[in-house]
Amino acid sequence: MTHYFDAVVIGAGAAGLFCAATAGQRGLKVLVIDHSEKVAEKIRISGGGRCNFTNRDVSPANFLSDNPHFCRSALAGYTPQDFIALLQKHGVPFHEKHEEKGKGQLFCDRSAEDVINLLLAECAAGQVERWQPSSVKKVAYSGINNAGGPTNTGASSYQIDTDRGVVETPQIIIATGGLSIPKIGATDFGYRIAQQFGLRLVEPRAALVPLTFDGDAWLPFAQLAGLALPVQIETGAPDATPKQRKKATVFAEDLLFTHKGLSGPAVLQISSFWREGHSLRINLAPGQDLPASLLRAKASSKKLIANELASVVPSRLADAWASTDAALQRPICDATDKALTHLAERLADWQILPNGSEGYKKAEVTAGGVDTRDLSSQTMESKQPGLYFIGEVVDVTGWLGGYNFQWAWASGFACGNALSVR
Ligand SMILES: Cc1cc2nc3c(=O)[nH]c(=O)nc-3n(C[C@H](O)[C@H](O)[C@H](O)COP(=O)(O)OP(=O)(O)OC[C@H]3O[C@@H](n4cnc5c(N)ncnc54)[C@H](O)[C@@H]3O)c2cc1C
Repeated sequence: MTHYFDAVVIGAGAAGLFCAATAGQRGLKVLVIDHSEKVAEKIRISGGGRCNFTNRDVSPANFLSDNPHFCRSALAGYTPQDFIALLQKHGVPFHEKHEEKGKGQLFCDRSAEDVINLLLAECAAGQVERWQPSSVKKVAYSGINNAGGPTNTGASSYQIDTDRGVVETPQIIIATGGLSIPKIGATDFGYRIAQQFGLRLVEPRAALVPLTFDGDAWLPFAQLAGLALPVQIETGAPDATPKQRKKATVFAEDLLFTHKGLSGPAVLQISSFWREGHSLRINLAPGQDLPASLLRAKASSKKLIANELASVVPSRLADAWASTDAALQRPICDATDKALTHLAERLADWQILPNGSEGYKKAEVTAGGVDTRDLSSQTMESKQPGLYFIGEVVDVTGWLGGYNFQWAWASGFACGNALSVR
């Protein structure tokens, strides 16, 4: 038996559900298919269970893409204020993260489940049909729709072979996300469909992910798991010119030492920019005049250098740092000014080379994806007529802080409004 729909969304995550609701409420007969038993698992686990659903301040500068301007139109068409208004309409309580550094990040007061329920209610209002768990075996394109079904628009037609029968539709929306967290259903489905229809891909890579380290340079720090401190962090090519360095994105956030390396918001943020072979440059005591404090201490103290350092960085880090160099294992009054100035410079510009990342098992998102050169920034339709891509499967990746969900809402909304009504 063949089922007919005006539009079929594959992937019942943030982008897919929002797009389906938008199109359904415009009068389209919409089907959403997901292979998981539960919808929107990533929303459920996001933001520590409270879903950082948007950020008050969103601009294209908060996103990575080979085509940085692509996201502009969709982000302008559906803003954080629009999503906030929707939450208010559904009576969902939320709050802004109180810390200065997390400014603008909005979270549910109760649980991420509130956002999922909102999306399902919006889908119900648009009479969206959902099939799950349901697997898609094959997607075929037969050009002009001539199957004579009720959705015959004279436009292109797709046949989707599923475990519940064949679905025919003129419009198919791929919202299957990226490769992060395979154990809750992430697949490369979207990339395979893009390739099937001759669309280009920007090499996917794990992003917002902890970075790993090994080797002698890391050894002294391997025992610091659990230690957190505020830092400034950047990355770049080893041969970067001063001009390129000036342009590099710098984050001022907390860094966390882990058993395998470094994590925390600072490292998650910079991981999206990091490339193999590039070092991190970390200021371990931002906002402090380190040379002056160390030279002042030298004039008045007989304490070990590590003990004095402990007044500017956490004492476990100070001990680890001092253990890297025999010349630092002495009273500060015995150190030369030159040695102290050098120590201050190294602490303010710690250069350390990751050997990799914790990969898709731990990555919050996948950077790269369907190349935006093959998509319309107004509608998310690809060069292949009737085939759309939205959300994380597209080469648009937000910073940490609610930006990825805002992209899911905005791209889903742009697409849901562009789909044609029978
Ligand atoms: C631990 C964690 C915490 C996060 N916290 C935040 C946060 O607080 N704020 C924020 O902005 N972002 C956060 N993110 C990122 C955010 O969750 C994603 O960017 C967002 O969910 C992407 O939405 P999407 O709809 O494109 O994809 P997804 O939400 O990943 O949805 C894709 C859907 O497609 C389905 N699917 C996949 N393959 C197939 C297939 N072959 N057939 C059928 N269905 C398929 C999946 O089951 C899934 O339901 C977090 C991510 C993680 C992993």
